Amino acid sequence: MSATGSSPSSSSSSTKRLEGKVALVTGGATGIGEAIVRLFLEHGAKVCIADIQDEAGQQLRDALGGDEQGVMFVHCDVTAEEDVSRGVDAAAARFGALDVMVNNAGITGAKVTDIRNVDFAEVRRVYDINVHGVFLGMKHAARVMIPRKRGSIVSLASVASAIGGMGPHAYTASKHAVVGLTKSVATELGRHGVRVNCVSPYAVPTALSMPHLPQDERAGDALKDFLAFVGGEANLKGVDLMPRDVAQAVLYLASDEARYVSALNLMVDGGFTAVNNSLK
Ligand code: NAD
Repeated sequence: MSATGSSPSSSSSSTKRLEGKVALVTGGATGIGEAIVRLFLEHGAKVCIADIQDEAGQQLRDALGGDEQGVMFVHCDVTAEEDVSRGVDAAAARFGALDVMVNNAGITGAKVTDIRNVDFAEVRRVYDINVHGVFLGMKHAARVMIPRKRGSIVSLASVASAIGGMGPHAYTASKHAVVGLTKSVATELGRHGVRVNCVSPYAVPTALSMPHLPQDERAGDALKDFLAFVGGEANLKGVDLMPRDVAQAVLYLASDEARYVSALNLMVDGGFTAVNNSLK
């Protein structure tokens, strides 16, 4: 071990960073959520997948070994408080506690480039899932974390939390709101030993970002199409951001390695927002 505490053989990726912890991941059945579920399990956590896609969620649970491997599924629509409350209680009852809450479920809503044509019902739907869903996740995680005086809440924001032009208006506003909620709730829960952070990825190839592309499309090509859709161009050349890269950032914030990190919006964007820091 060097004086800085690092050596090639002591890389943190070789240790289980969530051993003994229990996590719930909303929207955990597919996409970034699935990558988080997989990575958390690799790092020793017990994980509750909470999603509206019952079949996909149950299949993932079974593929990952189910009960024996410490993974469960609950049907949970994050817009319904009773679902979120029941999901949190089910995870805590099955695994004994809840240490980590990941508010990952989110949608973009349809891209309409002319605000005069925006269907307001769509705006409400995006807010319901992306903002109210996150609020409910924070509320019910706090309910079980405060008495234990510890816990980590991590929500998925987006580069759209920091700049305009990276998605529909309601999506951008909703992701700015996730950062606001994170800061606000972090100021309350810090005194209870509960940390609250969010992660803001750049474009990642998932069902959310590329709903209309063929299944067999190479991720890199598909990503280019998505970037043309949102109007952004990657900053870090030659690297495609993948769901697991985002999961690694969530893992850090969930783990005790981040025990003094709270109210942070961790950008996983290859520097994109820093070099595109004006409203487009
Ligand atoms: P995805 O569409 O691939 O997966 C989203 C998951 O959330 C699905 O499993 C879906 O069933 C679930 N979900 C949707 N509505 C729900 C509800 N009401 N209750 C519970 N679950 C629900 O999306 P993704 O790309 O994996 O995105 C995950 C998060 O990351 C979102 O919050 C998204 O805004 C954010 N994000 C994604 C990207 C990207 O490029 N993919 C970039 C930045 C931020």
